[in-house]
Amino acid sequence: MLSKIQAIRGMNDLLPEQSPLWQYFEGHIRSLMSRYGYQEIRTPILEQTNLFKRSIGEVTDIVEKEMYTFDDRNGESLTMRPEGTASVVRAAIESGLLHNQTQRLWYTGPMFRYERPQKGRYRQFHQVGAEIFGLDGPDIDVEAILLTARLWKQLGLTEHVTLELNSLGSNEARAAYRERLIEYFSAHMDVLDEDAKRRLHTNPLRILDSKTPEMQNMIEQAPQLLDHLDDDSRTHFETLKSLLDSAGIPYVVNPRLVRGLDYYNRTVFEWTTTALGSQGTVCAGGRYDGLVEQLGGKAVPAVGFAMGVERLVLLLDTLGLVPGDLHQQVDVYLMAFGEAAERQAMLLGESLRDALPGLRLQVHCGGGSFKSQMKKADRSGANIALILGEDELRDQKVSLKYMRESLEQQTLNESELAQLLAERFPNAR
Ligand code: ATP
Ligand code: MG
Repeated sequence: MLSKIQAIRGMNDLLPEQSPLWQYFEGHIRSLMSRYGYQEIRTPILEQTNLFKRSIGEVTDIVEKEMYTFDDRNGESLTMRPEGTASVVRAAIESGLLHNQTQRLWYTGPMFRYERPQKGRYRQFHQVGAEIFGLDGPDIDVEAILLTARLWKQLGLTEHVTLELNSLGSNEARAAYRERLIEYFSAHMDVLDEDAKRRLHTNPLRILDSKTPEMQNMIEQAPQLLDHLDDDSRTHFETLKSLLDSAGIPYVVNPRLVRGLDYYNRTVFEWTTTALGSQGTVCAGGRYDGLVEQLGGKAVPAVGFAMGVERLVLLLDTLGLVPGDLHQQVDVYLMAFGEAAERQAMLLGESLRDALPGLRLQVHCGGGSFKSQMKKADRSGANIALILGEDELRDQKVSLKYMRESLEQQTLNESELAQLLAERFPNAR
């Protein structure tokens, strides 16, 4: 026997059993984005490697060790996108979307990072993100946060997530702070782990993010960026917080929140949960005012966020927040017995679909006994089973059986049937 080919480690199939929950989540996203006036953008999965090196930063975890990079047949280095922002910025510059206009864009799709697979962390995962160009906030930063907060409310997640906020200040303030940090960490070389030593001169801010227990005390005592903000960034941050206060959105200021990508400045935020172990960040974002220029466009302020779909779906599942009727495949299941009835069932199915465009109807195919067809009808989640047998065919009727209620079976002609179904499933018309 031939050996079985398996999926790539850390890359998952989305099976039919799981797709209703994903569709439920995606449905909320789609309508929410349009309610806020955001437009969808789709970009290719493959980009030139340099796009990510220049935006995310050479000395970040993503670029140093997580990217799927390979040479194509022309010897050009390509990378499977590890995140969405860089691609959206590239596309927006390339297509002139940023010329004297604001843009509110959103996207969804798979991202790729070579990480150690575990619960909530995969090598192919999915993000939903938004990127807003041409507004320097803080009102627009708050809008982005309000949009996500509304999503949590709709999904029943509000009490399970916490908003963490920080400001990284201007690039100049951050550069000055960086020097102070290098000085401080250099005085604590004995406590630094290998990663931290390596990053000391390349990306010292990331050391603040370290999870190494022995370093925590030292990190607690480190100088804080919030104490070294430039005046404009301080005002920006204060206004942001007061806008959130007036909108009734609680938050925690976390001075250690630095984010793993180089392009952020001023506002950074994360929505976290304690229900998923160490993969607790479900949404993360911030301002990246310098990125458009850095990638060759005219300087345009920007802010955005991305959420991890797997983590959110997992969270809904873990917390039992999945609507009960989600797994119901169809409303009506149509069974038939005998060749002539099967032929008729196919036609009846089509004419019911003409009459009731919103009805979810499955016609049984492939024959079988009453018992086996009933079993399939039951498994489909249908509330109503329709039966076409020899008797019904002769009388030009259909029998209707209620699957989930103790109501009596009925026999109806086709127009009576269409009327009953229309009353029973008002959204089907
Ligand atoms: P983490 O600290 O968990 O590694 P990150 O800072 O690398 O996250 P971002 O680049 O900010 O993550 O991506 C935004 C969101 O995408 C994360 O908050 C998370 O929900 C999700 N995400 C990131 N990497 C993965 C992954 N490998 N598998 C599943 N979801 C992920
Ligand atoms: Mg990561």
